[in-house]
Amino acid sequence: MSTFDYDLFVIGAGSGGVRAARIAAGLGASVAVAEDRYMGGTCVNVGCVPKKLYVYASQFSDAHRDGAGFGWETVKPSFDWNVLRDNKKAEISRLNGIYVNLLENSGAKIYDARAKILGPNTVQVGTETVTAERILIATGGWPFIPEFPGNEHAITSNEVFDLAQFPKRVMVVGGGYIAVEFAGIFQGLGAETKLLYRGPLFLRNFDQEVREFVATEVARKGVDLTFNTNIETIEKQADGSLLAQLTDGSTVEADMILYATGRKPNLQGLGLENLNVELGKSGAIKVDENFHTSENGVYAVGDVIGGAELTPVALAEGMALARHLYSPEHKGQPCDMDYESIPTAVFCQPNIGTVGLTEEQAKEKYGDISVFSSSFRALKNTISGSEEKTLMKLIVDKSSDRVIGVHMVGPDAGEIIQGIAIAIKAGATKAVFDRTIGIHPTAAEEFVTMREATR
Ligand code: FAD
Ligand code: NDP
Repeated sequence: MSTFDYDLFVIGAGSGGVRAARIAAGLGASVAVAEDRYMGGTCVNVGCVPKKLYVYASQFSDAHRDGAGFGWETVKPSFDWNVLRDNKKAEISRLNGIYVNLLENSGAKIYDARAKILGPNTVQVGTETVTAERILIATGGWPFIPEFPGNEHAITSNEVFDLAQFPKRVMVVGGGYIAVEFAGIFQGLGAETKLLYRGPLFLRNFDQEVREFVATEVARKGVDLTFNTNIETIEKQADGSLLAQLTDGSTVEADMILYATGRKPNLQGLGLENLNVELGKSGAIKVDENFHTSENGVYAVGDVIGGAELTPVALAEGMALARHLYSPEHKGQPCDMDYESIPTAVFCQPNIGTVGLTEEQAKEKYGDISVFSSSFRALKNTISGSEEKTLMKLIVDKSSDRVIGVHMVGPDAGEIIQGIAIAIKAGATKAVFDRTIGIHPTAAEEFVTMREATR
């Protein structure tokens, strides 16, 4: 008989925490979960899900325009932010309820309160103090805004979903996932949109050709891209608008400035001072291959340990840990998380889908590579009149013929690359791609019909 109140106490009901708690409880462990903000965490409340809904919303403006070439009479559409925001709110509330049910049905106890760790086996949750054999930290990340005069006037992805009013002029700062996705959202919804990035080209670490292609397409949609520039100060003006002073000496007026300059591990007030938990250089919690921290019985998964900050990664880590600790088949065996070739999509417009190495990484790792690259105007855009183009790219290791990187910029790139990622995981060669019959007429068939290496 355990002397603790619980076998496992999970802090944070986000992607990683909920998955770990559900699986552990389903395997017979007595589990509690503390969540002080929103069930489902970042992804469900201020991340992937509402973001994708807003991406869908923003695509209707192009769809209206494109319809004219197909014979649909053009009526000038009008957009009502309040409808979108409130429908989104209702959908997220429905999902919050589903998460509560999932946890309760698995047998886990939910504490609707903030948790603070008091020691290796003790947690204060709300006004209660409880004990657990093991503690799992799954507290995710928090948006980061750099220090500069007037930064209090900028907002982050935490606030952007529930704006009281739709801004007419938007400035997005940053060059990562969130910045390019939200620039596309606001542009599509009708705001005059600028994206400001400190480096020479956004989406650092993505394939160079993809980055350049996306910059052209995003600018074609009307987003004003300014690179090699940053904000020095923001001032609130008498009419409520914001005046940003830029490093190039110019000023920009905006109604909203969204900072998308990365996220930091969410550790504030967690009580880490009461543990011997080591942090890495970025401030993320250090764990071993079984998600064990440097404190006995304390584990961590998801964004709080750094690495690829993606929901499917947090889910996979939560699942691997729960099985490692409680499943009769996996108990005691290493978690064996596979971080190779994680596919990912950026829901900018058009979307980016990518798996495996970039051309630059492949050259460095393998030396002798072939690159098959094709850009074209998709069938739909021939009579829609849209100038939007699609890019598809395969990178092949010449000595083994294995396809080691696949990249796409175009509609539904995420949907397409998810399937291709299975082939990459299975070690498919270019010969296998070539033997695969295409589906016609699709854009995706290009992946199995590219025969001549571009370089
Ligand atoms: P989270 O989901 O952040 O959950 C942590 C939870 O812990 C939170 O609910 C928090 O309230 C709670 N918590 C923290 N401290 C305490 C405490 N002391 N006591 C109690 N509770 C606490 N990923 C994708 O794969 N695809 C996408 O399209 C995508 N889009 C995104 C868009 C945006 C705008 C953002 C910000 C992120 C996006 N992500 C996306 C990333 C994804 O949301 C995260 O990788 C994922 O949510 C991480 O899960 P997690 O369990 O580590 O943490
Ligand atoms: P990212 O890490 O992707 O990008 C941060 C950006 O901010 C970079 O361009 C960085 O520039 C820039 N930056 C950092 N510090 C400063 C500064 N002091 N001044 C100016 N610019 C700065 O973070 P995001 O906030 O966009 O997103 C966080 C994470 O959430 C992502 O990394 C991703 O893992 C996840 N996410 C996933 C999505 C998806 O799967 N579709 C969607 C949204 C988020 P530089 O490159 O020069 O360092």
